[in-house]
Amino acid sequence: MIRVTSPEEVKRIVKAKKQAGQTIGFIPTMGFLHEGHLSLFKKARETSDFVCVSIFVNPTQFGDPKDYSTYPRDIERDAELAEKAGADLLFCPDREAIYPNDEEVTVKVNARTDVLCGASRPGHFDGVATVLTKFFNIFSPDKAYFGLKDAQQVAVVQSLIHSFHYDIELVPCPLVRESDGLAKSSRNVHLSDEERAEAVHLSRGLKAGIETVEAGERDFDAVIRAVRQYYADHLKLGTVDYVDVLNYPECSRKQKTIAGRFIIACAVQYANARLIDNMIADSADIKEAAFHAANIDEK
Ligand code: AMP
Repeated sequence: MIRVTSPEEVKRIVKAKKQAGQTIGFIPTMGFLHEGHLSLFKKARETSDFVCVSIFVNPTQFGDPKDYSTYPRDIERDAELAEKAGADLLFCPDREAIYPNDEEVTVKVNARTDVLCGASRPGHFDGVATVLTKFFNIFSPDKAYFGLKDAQQVAVVQSLIHSFHYDIELVPCPLVRESDGLAKSSRNVHLSDEERAEAVHLSRGLKAGIETVEAGERDFDAVIRAVRQYYADHLKLGTVDYVDVLNYPECSRKQKTIAGRFIIACAVQYANARLIDNMIADSADIKEAAFHAANIDEK
């Protein structure tokens, strides 16, 4: 695995690989790698010739400076994991390499930002779209791999690719959970033992929502109420930031009632970690939702 810190060097390497007929797979991350990230590496290993990973804690997507400064980092451990998982190139730039002129030019996202994490983290998706525009130009990947853990991000990035005419295939990858159902996240290390034990209820609350749809409920607000009630009954340490049910990938309510593909999503704030989770399903094929819910082992 080649380790690179300069965008120019990445461009040189990628150009040579492309000239040799290889396809470029790209996985952007903020590091502190876990099995969620590694599932993206695996998918990339299977479907791209030259697998590139970036580790960059992007300052412009953090609203809260404390969240940015305390975001977990361990580059040496990450490099080992990335190499074992089959990455060919690891890009770990510093802030100046990515923002040479500070923020002279940025990207603004105008759709899907008034809901979910867009609403509770103003400017977050502008930061995400700005850094990804830079990375897409540095790597010119054929495929870019993103996890559905951040389903709203997947929808926003798909729109970025389409809007800016990038010749990139976005490959969405399934959300990876702990065996008790907690979505794997770099931020989970900031949970106390009591918070970690309680956090299993995030996915169970979403599952409770899916079950109401399975039972025939099609009213958005009724499903939201069911999830909120579950959280009211089970969360004592965490504070619910949002619970929402929306059409996906539009991230809005297309009709008065749930029809077609939808997302049930939540964000819960603990003392030192804000956790997000979601389940995506299709009301026309609710078995799929049941499949997602069944993946959660309630031992
Ligand atoms: P991050 O380092 O949190 O910015 O995540 C980098 C990529 O890994 C994003 O595309 C995330 O959606 C994805 N990812 C993070 N956690 C998970 C997970 N539990 N399951 C699947 N993908 C994940």
